[in-house]
Amino acid sequence: MDIRHYTIALDVNPVTQSINGYTEIDLTLSIGSPVLLLDFWHGLTVGGVTVNGKKESFEHTETDLLKITGNKPFPSGKIKIKVMYGGKPGIAERPPWTGGFQWSKDSNGNPFIAVTCQSEGGKIFFPCKDHPSDEPNEGADMIITVPKGLTVAGPGLLMKETNSKTTSTFHWKTNYTISNYCLVFNIGDYAIVRDTYVTVLGKKVPMEFYVTQEHKDKGPHHLEVLKRTALVLEKYFGEYPWAKEKIGIAETPHLGMEHQTMNAYGNQFRYTKVGGEDFDWLLTHEFGHEWWANKVTNADWAHMWIQEGICSYGDALYVRELEGEEAYQKVMRQRARTAQNVKPIVQGEVVDSDDTYHGDIYGKGALFMHTLRYVIGDSIFFPTLKKLATDKRYTYDNTITTDDVEKLFSTASGSNLKPLFDFYLRTTNKLEISVKQTDEKKYKIQLTNFKGMELPIEILVNGEVTKFMLDDKETTFESETYPQIDPIGFYLKRVVFE
Ligand SMILES: [Zn+2]
Repeated sequence: MDIRHYTIALDVNPVTQSINGYTEIDLTLSIGSPVLLLDFWHGLTVGGVTVNGKKESFEHTETDLLKITGNKPFPSGKIKIKVMYGGKPGIAERPPWTGGFQWSKDSNGNPFIAVTCQSEGGKIFFPCKDHPSDEPNEGADMIITVPKGLTVAGPGLLMKETNSKTTSTFHWKTNYTISNYCLVFNIGDYAIVRDTYVTVLGKKVPMEFYVTQEHKDKGPHHLEVLKRTALVLEKYFGEYPWAKEKIGIAETPHLGMEHQTMNAYGNQFRYTKVGGEDFDWLLTHEFGHEWWANKVTNADWAHMWIQEGICSYGDALYVRELEGEEAYQKVMRQRARTAQNVKPIVQGEVVDSDDTYHGDIYGKGALFMHTLRYVIGDSIFFPTLKKLATDKRYTYDNTITTDDVEKLFSTASGSNLKPLFDFYLRTTNKLEISVKQTDEKKYKIQLTNFKGMELPIEILVNGEVTKFMLDDKETTFESETYPQIDPIGFYLKRVVFE
């Protein structure tokens, strides 16, 4: 089953906290099948299902599956499923980390509604094939109806707004591929603050900030802050991925989420300074996901570090750009201190989202990119990182795994980097470096738990940083002063002095 397109059309009622409407799924079957299977949360009630316009019988299970059975097998080729449904969607207990609907109020008492489902998936409110490897190739439409006076912020372009006496309907459309968990909407008494961003390739992209009336005055400056982030990220990762649509942010009652072309923002405009300029870590991090998660997507949750780890590495590159190399290195040393090393970052090829999601996919994932940069050098690392974010093979319609990343960097560097990738991503080991003093000024050094390749490691000898190529065999060196191993901190490591 290959998903081609979703249309999600729903009435949203803030008073009864319910939704009602339909979802259409366009897909192609590679072979005929007697059953069509979709993911859909069991708490919503399905009123009917049609396939290619014909009513079909279905079973909606407690295990969140919608099984559609035809009178005769469905043939291979194009199929359009329409599912009519409604009810009360699940309430988010701790958004954005545990998702669902959040029925809040703004400071004026108006409905302020957000949807998040990164770990639960789009199935919490629309029937879909809920797996990261299958995004709708031809995009999606969201047609959302709300009580008059409220505004719906959604993905892509606003095609139409229609009003009746009591309701308003917003038709959002994206022509790009999009993850299920980004096919969401936010509702509020929004003001819209606009600006224009010019991409690195000279394309003009509308910027839209759906902001609460209370924070409307903060909108223009916030977009300026975002522009600075966009400039830096484009430098490292290539042009903004959704230049034909928009750069969007929607203020939300939760902290934030990387919703494609309409990032959720709820960090309350709490700026710190980077390079003397206002900086909002949440805004920058979620915007980085427009490349890492939205454009470059993991084929399975098992490889989610590609999305969170490289995105977090981008946060550090922002610091590098505005404050320089030393400030960036300091950020990386902080990341090293927070590494938990309880579970490997990659635990297999097929892992569910709850098992994959832990702190190390962020900090240790970012630190791994820092290590990789040091091992292969800037002249290879940065162009290859940009290639990963721009080459057709790794972006949009195509999803990737850890092995794809490893092979790309191995090919680019002309050396087999698999031992390094496996060590840092598939084990919880720290690089162990043993240092033995054999004489007053003589030392022997070796890697004790790492095999398969040499690693460059800096040692402070006689007050000077010298680079050594180390492996699991002893290397000797002399130093008048007590040696310091990897003083800048390019590795997550344990040094054992004897
Ligand atoms: Zn993130």
